[in-house]
Amino acid sequence: MRPFQYTRPDSLTHASQLSGDDGAMLIAGATNLVDLMKLQVETPDHLVDVNPLGMAEIEDTDDGGLRIGALATNTATANHARVRSDYPVLARAILAGATQQLRNRATMGGNLCQRTRCYYFTKPEQPCNKREPGSGCGAIDGIARLHAVLGTSDQCIATYPGDMAVALSALGATVQIASADGGERSVSVRDFHLLPGDTPWRDNVLQPGEVIIAVMLPPPVEGRQSYRKVRERSSYAFALVSVAAIVAMEGDTIARADLAFGGLAHKPWHDPRLSDLLTGKAPSAALFDEAADLLLQEARGYGENDFKIPLARRTLAAVLAEATETEI
Ligand code: SF4
Repeated sequence: MRPFQYTRPDSLTHASQLSGDDGAMLIAGATNLVDLMKLQVETPDHLVDVNPLGMAEIEDTDDGGLRIGALATNTATANHARVRSDYPVLARAILAGATQQLRNRATMGGNLCQRTRCYYFTKPEQPCNKREPGSGCGAIDGIARLHAVLGTSDQCIATYPGDMAVALSALGATVQIASADGGERSVSVRDFHLLPGDTPWRDNVLQPGEVIIAVMLPPPVEGRQSYRKVRERSSYAFALVSVAAIVAMEGDTIARADLAFGGLAHKPWHDPRLSDLLTGKAPSAALFDEAADLLLQEARGYGENDFKIPLARRTLAAVLAEATETEI
């Protein structure tokens, strides 16, 4: 590991100012960044440790939603009484990720900012446009089993690896962000992560000096919530495909269908056309097929990950069938 400066700022403003400098990076739970530093994938000159800043409260909001501080651990969030009762899709998604030890350290903000687990990204001797712009993408003609089938570019086909943000996307959460000039902004979690395009080194919309301060959940809605994660083994593995769903029925028709997908793209994938298609219709195998057609219209496999396209279709159908109690 290379030498670096380490600072524990005593205010949010100080943290923002320090982290805006070239070569500076924020650190919270240290469950991803330290691994990447050991591999020489990340080589910050200055680590700004935000742990002294508090920001770990989980509290009700005036509109009936929930504010989860950026430094609330994944364990604290998944175990929180209101998360378990009103936002079970979030609790389930968090508990489907990593291990208990990692969840005890990992934070809301850090989880959102975790980096891809692409094999080439973590090997400095391999080509990777995300790690070293212009060096090429080893995965496109190489090891691509975990890689994306939606929203890819000829620069990068990596997936966003997390589970928690997939549930947050289905819930329509927003991310509260502070900047170095003392201002704040809110970004929908659906817009927080970026597609690779021509700038695959950018994972999300954060600018230098910006610090995530909280995640805001809207008031809870009616409906069954579920998170289904398909992976190579039953624990400590990233999603091949995952589906977060909030589905409500009114009589024999679907009254609400908020869906988001993991394992398919460089960001949690949310396609508002699915909700439009499903809402107001009677659930059936044919309707679920139509939804999968829409979801996967632009899907493209890269050899090793071709299987994800039919897997996403089947996983979506299974989730919708369970939520609507429909035989398929
Ligand atoms: Fe790098 Fe993205 Fe290609 Fe992986 S898929 S090698 S992260 S550019």
